[in-house]
Amino acid sequence: MQKDIKKNYDLIVVGAGAAGLMAAGIAASNDVKVLVVEKMPRPAIKLRITGKGRCNLTNTALLSEFMDHFGSNGRFLRQAFTHFFSDKLVTFFESIGVKTGIERGGRVFPLSNRAKEVVDALEKWVKRNGAKIMLNTKVVGLLAGKEKIQGVRISNKNGKSGTIAIYAKAVLIATGGKSYPATGSTGDGYWLAQSVGHTIVPVLPALVPLETAGETAGKLQGLSLKKKI
Ligand SMILES: Cc1cc2nc3c(=O)[nH]c(=O)nc-3n(C[C@H](O)[C@H](O)[C@H](O)COP(=O)(O)OP(=O)(O)OC[C@H]3O[C@@H](n4cnc5c(N)ncnc54)[C@H](O)[C@@H]3O)c2cc1C
Repeated sequence: MQKDIKKNYDLIVVGAGAAGLMAAGIAASNDVKVLVVEKMPRPAIKLRITGKGRCNLTNTALLSEFMDHFGSNGRFLRQAFTHFFSDKLVTFFESIGVKTGIERGGRVFPLSNRAKEVVDALEKWVKRNGAKIMLNTKVVGLLAGKEKIQGVRISNKNGKSGTIAIYAKAVLIATGGKSYPATGSTGDGYWLAQSVGHTIVPVLPALVPLETAGETAGKLQGLSLKKKI
């Protein structure tokens, strides 16, 4: 059964990860009526495990170095980073109460050493700006009108079958990639975008777990090697 919610949002953000929360908070601070839809029970589960639970926020390297690290795709970063680079990111986090420090190799971490502090600060800021976050709710489709997105279709979270439509003037897909699916990043954004006509470049794993035979690897647990810079 399909049900419609006629509540009119300006923007629906699909996914409450780092990108979704940031986009929602900025939009809401500009008087945009925002709804964030997140399928997991908590926002930004992947962000909570970044940097071994400490969250490596950014780096003090120059823009040219950032781009070099991305090889031939690095040019893609220029436009976004020209508007919002690492210095602005640090200022932003300090403004929402996350004090930061610089470590070896120019890496910037929260002084608390807790990725959770970063998530909590982001979530509070998003809500303070007036955006609503709907948890445990999966976007299962986009509502496409004539040449225009009209909203999203969510699964009915009350355990009943069927879907519910929520309308908005714009939809932003911030569903992350496909690595570490237990955090919610299962690659849904690819088929959502494809469903309204976008072409998806086949995705390849860039981060993979290793499985080894025997007990040697287990004995090495906790051993970390310093990168020489
Ligand atoms: C182990 C590990 C360590 C890392 N360490 C660092 C680090 O220290 N520093 C750093 O900068 N980066 C780090 N990264 C990379 C970083 O985590 C990602 O770049 C970042 O999380 C991407 O953010 P995102 O918002 O684009 O996507 P995600 O964080 O993947 O968020 C996407 C969100 O969308 C939700 N979602 C997906 N599909 C749907 C749907 N259909 N309906 C509703 N919601 C949906 C997901 O549940 C998820 O919450 C690390 C990654 C890993 C795996």
